[in-house]
Parts: sequence; structure tokens; C-alpha cells
Amino acid sequence: MSEETIFSKIIRKEIPADIVYQDDLVTAFRDINPQAPTHVLIIPNKLIPTAADVVDDDEPTLGRLFTVARKIAQQEGIASDGYRLIVNVKDHGHQEVMHLHMHLFGGRPLGRMLPG
Ligand code: AMP
Repeated sequence: MSEETIFSKIIRKEIPADIVYQDDLVTAFRDINPQAPTHVLIIPNKLIPTAADVVDDDEPTLGRLFTVARKIAQQEGIASDGYRLIVNVKDHGHQEVMHLHMHLFGGRPLGRMLPG
């Protein structure tokens, strides 16, 4: 059994967050420490700790992350200029919250993917 994180409380609206989208499979909310003019986290409602823990049955949920990312990018007015989707995984990926999440960054040129 995986341990819940603060993100489960955000999904259940037990703590405040700036939720921009929610449906039966995913929730999206603004990052509390934004790294770009648009910085939204899109997460499965089901607790999947990391991308290394996904199973075949998660495919509809994982696909939903991408379709919701596209919709939010359109809502935010960043779709035509482009944006970046990132999923950090475990220690070397610098994942801090152990509830799988897709970062959506946009609103300015984001530079190269990795430093160096
Ligand atoms: P990661 O390093 O990929 O695990 O990213 C975790 C992200 O969650 C960071 O960008 C944090 O700023 C963000 N974060 C942590 N707590 C909250 C919160 N309560 N509401 C919104 N974003 C959060």
C-alpha cells in the first residue's frame, strides 16, 4: 500500500489549491512554486507513486494526462507557441512528491531541456 501525499488531499479538496481542471481520472492545479508563467501539475486521481509504478490498466488515465495537458495549454493561450511536459521519476529524476505528476510549463521560451 503506497502512502498518500499532499496531492491526494488536493484531489479531495481537503486543502486549498488552484484547481484548473478535474474529472473522473485526473486533476490539474497550479504549482505552488511556479517555474514559468504557466506551471500546472496534472495528476492521476488514483495514487500511482511514480512513473515506474504504472501498470497496463493505467493506460486510460495516462492518456488522459496528455489530452488534459493539451486542453489546459489551449486555455492558457500557450498552445501555438509551445510548451513543455515533464515527468520526474524517483531520486535521479528529482521527484519530490511521490504521486505521479506531469508538469506543464509554458508562457516563455524554456531553453534546452537539460543544463549543459
Ligand atoms: P517534483 O519535483 O517533480 O516532484 O515536483 C513537485 C512539485 O509539486 C513542485 O514543483 C512543487 O512546487 C509542487 N508542489 C508541492 N506542494 C504543492 C502544493 N501544495 N500545491 C501545488 N504545488 C505543490
